[in-house]
Amino acid sequence: MKAKNKLGLVFFPAFDWAISPTHPEREERLLYTQDQIFEEGIQDIEGIKFFNPIVAEEKDIQRVHFPVPDVKSRVTKSHLVSLGGTIRAFQSVMNGEVDKSFALVRPPGHHAHRVVYGDRGFCIVNIEAVALEKIRQEYRDLRVAIIDTDCHHGDGTEDIYWNDRDTLFISFHQDGRTLYPGTGFIEDFGGPAAYGYNINIPLPPGTGEEGFLYVLDNVVLPILDEYKPDLIINSAGQDNHYTDPITNMNFTAHGYAVLNDRLNPDIAVLEGGYSIEGALPYINLGIILAMAGLDYSNVHEPDYDRERLRQTGEITEYIKKVCDIVYSRWKNRDDLKLKKFKGLKYVEKPKQIYYDTDGIMENQVQNFKICKRCSGINTINSRSDTGYRILGITIPRDACSNCIDEGYSLYEKTSKKKFTNIYLQDKVNDRYLAK
Ligand SMILES: [Zn+2]
Ligand SMILES: [Zn+2]
Repeated sequence: MKAKNKLGLVFFPAFDWAISPTHPEREERLLYTQDQIFEEGIQDIEGIKFFNPIVAEEKDIQRVHFPVPDVKSRVTKSHLVSLGGTIRAFQSVMNGEVDKSFALVRPPGHHAHRVVYGDRGFCIVNIEAVALEKIRQEYRDLRVAIIDTDCHHGDGTEDIYWNDRDTLFISFHQDGRTLYPGTGFIEDFGGPAAYGYNINIPLPPGTGEEGFLYVLDNVVLPILDEYKPDLIINSAGQDNHYTDPITNMNFTAHGYAVLNDRLNPDIAVLEGGYSIEGALPYINLGIILAMAGLDYSNVHEPDYDRERLRQTGEITEYIKKVCDIVYSRWKNRDDLKLKKFKGLKYVEKPKQIYYDTDGIMENQVQNFKICKRCSGINTINSRSDTGYRILGITIPRDACSNCIDEGYSLYEKTSKKKFTNIYLQDKVNDRYLAK
């Protein structure tokens, strides 16, 4: 058998790392998938290649995050390899070794925000964002779409790319009123430099194949057609599955494969998915076959019953309404932006972030400067109930010379009397300072 698309796979089950032995995010998540893949003979298909992860460096993390007080205190070796596996998947596509790649790694990353005091939603570092920012430095400043198909809102990725119009973020997820992390509403549409480029599609509990594919065909694909990204990344969370123990959706392995086939991502990165035996092996197999351009029509869970999983008419109607609203906001994004930000010099965004895994509460205010020549510098003034009070300054990749100067002078001038830690992230010169 020969794959239509050359596909790279990176596996990292992180045997020596778990929040606790019985925690849903543990190494068996990938062990059953590995067994299934070898049973199906995936390794014998011509055009499917396996790559070993590399180990990510501190600098890779500092391009995206402000780990408090520093990288070493927050990030384990397992996280560095999970990140490195994701980076390797990105590099294999960028340097032409393969057409597409899938990083099957853990721990996951999409709940990790810019500031990192600890673990939340089983995430410490945002693996997609760290890999993406690294290849932007190594190759070129790509225009990228990240499509998050995890059942939970990708709140960390939203936070990281909130004000970046060259990174379109679309998350469809179980409605935040019914599931962790409780965010991801339609009105959350991006910062002043990127209004309309953060798109949330909250879906009701009980959404099935029909609903997910409706969202894809009627909102996600039309938006991607217009946006024309250089690269499509799928944050492939698999906890929308009907057997997932911590969510309430009705999606299937076959549905995930169809979704992946139509979305046609360049790179997929495993996020959540906690139905270790009942879902992950089948979904991952379906995604691998779809990415390789092979037939996935026989991929079904042993207990798959299409009729039983059909979504109700009420849910179908509700999803259509949500999609209409989201798509019309996308079409009107420039008018909406004018209405929201006209005449403003900066925009403040207060936020409270709870680290559920580590039990830490953070209060922060982000400040986005509005600049006519670039995306504008932005700051995060944050304090945690563990005693830190930090200021993080970010100079965006497209910063004008004034904004670069302003970032450095703010860093120099800000006194350590008010803050325990002050950081400067200069994305133009790829520098990171801390005091
Ligand atoms: Zn999830
Ligand atoms: Zn500027």
